[in-house]
Formats: sequence, C-alpha cells, structure tokens
Amino acid sequence: MGRVVGIDLGTTNSVVAVIEGGKPVIIANSEGMRTTPSVVGFNKDGELVVGQMARRQAVLNPQNTFYGVKRFMGRRYAELQPESLRVAYTVRGDEEENIKIRCPRLKKEFAPEEVSAMILRKLAEEAERYLGEEVTEAVITVPAYFNDSQRQATRNAGRIAGLEVKRILNEPTAASLAYGLDRQDNQTILVFDLGGGTFDVSVLDVGDGVFEVRATSGDTQLGGNDFDRRIVDWLAESFLETNGVDLRSKDRQALQRLMEAAEKAKIELSGVSVTDINLPFITATEDGPKHIETRLDRAEFENLCGDLVSRMRRPLKLVLSDAGISPVQIDEVVLVGGGTRMPIVQQLVRSLIDRSANQNVNPDEVVAVGAAIQAGIVTREVKDILLLDVTPLSLGLETIGGVMKKLLPRNTTIPVRRSDIFSTSENNQTMVEVHVLQGEREMAADNNSLGRFKLSGIPPAPRGVAQIQVSFDIDANGILQVTARDKTTGREQSITVAGSSTLSERKVSKMIADADKFAQGDRERRERVETRNRAAALTDRAARQLKEVSLDFGSQFASHYRRRIESLSDQILDSLERDDERRLDRAQADLQDALYEMNREVRLQYEDEEDGFFDSLKRTFVGNDYEDDYSYNTRESYGEKRRRRRPSYEDEYSSEGGYYDERERPRSPRYSNSYDSSSRSESRRRRAESAPQSGSVSGRPRYPNRPLQNDWDEDDDDDWF
Ligand code: AMP
Repeated sequence: MGRVVGIDLGTTNSVVAVIEGGKPVIIANSEGMRTTPSVVGFNKDGELVVGQMARRQAVLNPQNTFYGVKRFMGRRYAELQPESLRVAYTVRGDEEENIKIRCPRLKKEFAPEEVSAMILRKLAEEAERYLGEEVTEAVITVPAYFNDSQRQATRNAGRIAGLEVKRILNEPTAASLAYGLDRQDNQTILVFDLGGGTFDVSVLDVGDGVFEVRATSGDTQLGGNDFDRRIVDWLAESFLETNGVDLRSKDRQALQRLMEAAEKAKIELSGVSVTDINLPFITATEDGPKHIETRLDRAEFENLCGDLVSRMRRPLKLVLSDAGISPVQIDEVVLVGGGTRMPIVQQLVRSLIDRSANQNVNPDEVVAVGAAIQAGIVTREVKDILLLDVTPLSLGLETIGGVMKKLLPRNTTIPVRRSDIFSTSENNQTMVEVHVLQGEREMAADNNSLGRFKLSGIPPAPRGVAQIQVSFDIDANGILQVTARDKTTGREQSITVAGSSTLSERKVSKMIADADKFAQGDRERRERVETRNRAAALTDRAARQLKEVSLDFGSQFASHYRRRIESLSDQILDSLERDDERRLDRAQADLQDALYEMNREVRLQYEDEEDGFFDSLKRTFVGNDYEDDYSYNTRESYGEKRRRRRPSYEDEYSSEGGYYDERERPRSPRYSNSYDSSSRSESRRRRAESAPQSGSVSGRPRYPNRPLQNDWDEDDDDDWF
C-alpha cells in the first residue's frame, strides 16, 4: 500500500498531513502555507484556481469564486437556511432539490461535491509534490455531527478527486488522536470544535492507545462564518439607514468586501477590544461615492452574536448528559477550529466546564494531524491504537403511522450489530417495506431517509403473526447494512447504506469522468500557458544576449546573428498572437539553435582572448587567408563553418553536438580573466584555423571582464519569471 494522506477538509481552510518516520507532518502548500483556504475559483481565462489564489480573486470575481461549500455538502436545497445562501456566488436547487453552484465563467454548474473535489485534488497534489510519489488514498475528516448523506457526499468528493477514501473520520475524534497519541494516562477529554461552518462537541476517554468516543453532538449549520454574517448585517443595516442602499443585495462585490472586512474584524476582536472597519468606495449613489468608516468593539460584537453562542450551549450540555458525566469529570478541554479563539466562545466553555483549555494543540492543524495518524493506522505505520467511534445520530425504521422506531440510539459505539423483531400491520400482508431512517425526531418524515427496500413472499397470516427480524450492522467506517429476514421462511433481503447520497451513483460516475476531463483540460491549458511563457521568455533572453554580445564584441559581430535572431523572435511573437502553435514550436527551436550558435561563437572568442588576444588582433589587422571564407554574407553560418573546419574542437568540447550537454558544461575556467602565456601557441594555432573576425575586430577591443550570464541554463526561464 502506498502513502495514505490525512485531509482536514474544512469549511474555511483545509490541511493535509502525512505520517513521516512514525510522526505526523503537516504538508505546506506551494504557496508556503500550512493551511489552504477552501476556496475554488475560475479566473478571467477560465482557469481553475484553488486556495490562496482563489481567495485573492474573490472580491474582483465574486460570481466565479466559491467558498464555504462544505455547508452545502450532502444537503438538499430546501434544507438550507437563508443565511447559508447569502454568498456572493449563485446557488440554486435543481429539479431533484440537489444544490447546484453556478459558474458563469464556464457556463457550467457544479455540485458541492465537485467543488470540494477540486480542493481535495489540490491538497493531494501538494502531498504528491512533497512526497515525490502519487497519492491515491486518503483519510478525510468530517464533523462528527455530519449525517449519513453529508458523509457520503464527502466520500464522493474524494472519489471525484481521484482518491480512494480509506476512512471518513470524525473531526473531534481526529483531534483526540492528535492530542492523546503520546499520552499514557487515562483521561476524559472534551473536544470543542468551532470551525468556519460547523460546530461539534465530543466527550472521549483517551489513554494508553485507546480512544473511545463516549458521546458527540453539534450543529452542522453553525460556525465562524455566522459570526461574520452578524457583522455584515450590522454594517449593512447601518449603511441602509444612512444611505438607503442595502449592500447585501446591491452588488456581489460589495457583499464580498463586506464579508472579508467582517471576518477580519471578528479575528481582530479576538485579540483587541476595538477594531476599525474601513471600506472606501463601497458603492456609489447619485450623491457620489460612499464609504464605510466605523468602529466595532468587542462588547458590541458579542452582543450581536449572543444567540449564536446560546446555540452552542445545548449541544454542549447534551454531550455531557449523553456521556453520562458531570462537568467536573472532564480532565481536559481541547479547543479546535479557528472560531474557538473568540473570547466569548472560550467563556462559554469555561462557564460550563471550569477548566482552562489545553494550550498544547494548534486548533488549525490538530484535525489534520489526527487524520494523518488514522492514515498511519490504515497503513500500519502507527500501531497499537484502538479507535472506538460512535454513530452521531440515531438509526431506525419507519413503522405504522409514520413513526420512527430507533434501533441504534445516537452515540452507540461502532462497530455494532443490533436487531429487533417486527410484524405485519394488516391481515394477509405478504410484503413489508423497510424504510431506514436517521435522526432524532419522532416522526419518520422529519428525519433523514437513508434508503428503502422490500421483503416479499411472507406467507399470508393474520396481522401481527409474521416475525420479521431486522438487523442493523455498522462497521468502523460508519457504513450501515440493514437486513430483514422472515423467520418463518428464512427469506432475506438487505441493503447496504453506504451513506445515502443526494447524488445517484450514475451522477457521481459522471462527475468522476468530468473531473478527469477537467483535470486533463487543466493540464493542457497549463502546459499551453507554460509553453507560451517559455517562448516569450526566450525572445527576451535573445534580445538580452544580443545586447550583451554587441557590447562585448561590437555591433558588427552581433549583426550577423541579429538578423536571424530578431526575425525568429518576431516569428515567435507573431505566432503567439495568432495562436499558431506549430509555427511557434518551429520558431522556438530555430531561435534556440541560433542562440546556441552565437553563444558558442562568443565562448570561442573569450577563449581566444584569454589565450592570445593580442596575437589575433595583430594577425587580423594584417589580414589572413580565411577572411573570405568567413564572410558574413555567405549563407552558411559561421558556426557551421567552424564545425566543418574544426572537427578536433567539436570532439573536444561538444558531447555529440548535444545542445543541452554543451550548455551544462562548467564554463567558468574558460571565462577567467587570467592569461596563461603557456597556452598561447596552442591558441594561436586554433585562431589560425578558425575564426578570423573580419569586420568584427573593431568591436572587440575589450577584455572579457565578465562572463556572459548563464542565460543558457535550462532553468533560466523559471528563475527569471
Ligand atoms: P477552521 O475551519 O478551523 O479553519 O476555522 C475557520 C474559522 O475560524 C473562520 O470562520 C475564521 O474566521 C475563524 N477564525 C480564525 N482565526 C480566528 C480568530 N483569531 N478569532 C476568531 N475567529 C477566527
């Protein structure tokens, strides 16, 4: 088995980690950051940008920049709260009530799974870059309180990204793994996780390699973003009052700027008690441009968010009662997620559990670290760990009257198997429908439907006589199998509820194919851009080298090459403009050849100057036999003649005429400023054989007091750009 990475796919930020030498390591992205914004965008050229680059374009290109998509994962459009829909891009529900994210730039709609897949792909690529090997497997974390369809949506996002999801791991469980990996003592810990879009709280027993979740609770529609929105509303309401314009509906750019300013203010208020919010030119009315210039203090902010904080109180109490413990029995509080940096959130935890929070874990990275540990358990790089998770929501069946009968109450430790006997509700009923449900409500209709199947062939009998045994099996991945068996006939029927996705398998397969196509298109686009950049860089390099050569050897020497080099550079620029790739390739290759010839000539000039400049100067002034042969007017290039006439030189210096080999050879000794008189006679011989520079002499009276830059280094283009 290859490497399995651990990914914390967050609402706001995502992190990837891996086990290296038995220890979890966070992988920094190519921008050098350890966390990657969970933002996907399409720039003005329709190219995919993910992470920081996408985040940067959010204000200027709000319609094509998608953030906070985790909130839409596995949800139906009708389930969304209006607040969740307040984003600067367009979200709609399709005919099946599935959520679609519109991308005007591509004239395309994406499912949230596809957008998340783009983030996962970026993280996997970062890991590949770091590890130097392909990454095809991952452990991905989800909020513990995610229901089955949200989990399945996450799994599908992994599949669309080309990753086999080895395990969907609950975020607080991951955090506890990271916290307790090296702990020997037994502790009961409370993990309080407030991310950008979700809230989770779990109680676990940790110690000696055993991690047992006792209870979990939360709210998948509550997170740091909601706090931002309160500030947005506060700013927008006051602007509306003063200027009569509602910035939230006026334009997307204004909304995006408001949201960014709100998040910034919120973060600042975690450290200082008052912050300035300045948004110049936020909009314009008939009276001219309008600005926002205001202050927000922490007290006011906390006042705005009072109800959000209250919403966290219930799950916190619930988790303690489900775990059957009182607050004093909590040994340690572990805070996870950027939202827990807010003093008001810390106060809330403190008010219920009188303990200061553990300061040893990094709230931004701890979940990914735990995911990497779980990945290490999968690959057996990490041993002697037993992880006992729970099912976050109750599972059961629909029974007569649309009532849900719970077979597995929430917080049941998994893996688990449990069964119960049901009967028919009508006389001579020969078929029963098993409707599997998840949720806490009494009525089936209020809970989440995971799937249905029928068991037929039940022998006719009065109602209540048939005995149908229904069993629920959940494995360690949370995958549920439901089996119904008629005890009289032994007939059996079952379904595997690998999470009830909002997307059909057919749609997921299509998305996987689309993502492949997309990735290929993306690769091709990137290659095209790189080719074009390289070509443009080559013309610049050519111009630079020509200039240096004229400076060093005079314009006449350079003019021989200038014509060809400039004409080829023009061809390149013209091909770029016309998008003529074949011509571009040809011109590029020819220009490289021309530069190669010129550079070789230059090198020889330097050598000669080192060895016998004065001799050659003298001889050239008095004329020599080869002058006509090397006339610049001949069609044969100077380099070609040299090649023809000086086989020994070629043998000595060019490895089979290989262009790159030649360029890679160390050159410095030959460019040295010192003159070795002992080699002069040899030099003289060479000069006589080779390069009488008719007409170029006047341009050569300078010593080569500096070597040419290493313009021919292969990676020059990269360094240069
Ligand atoms: P996470 O999903 O863990 O990356 O959490 C991201 C959320 O934490 C976002 O809503 C951030 O605005 C929020 N956040 C990050 N740092 C802070 C901070 N210092 N104070 C308040 N919220 C923060």
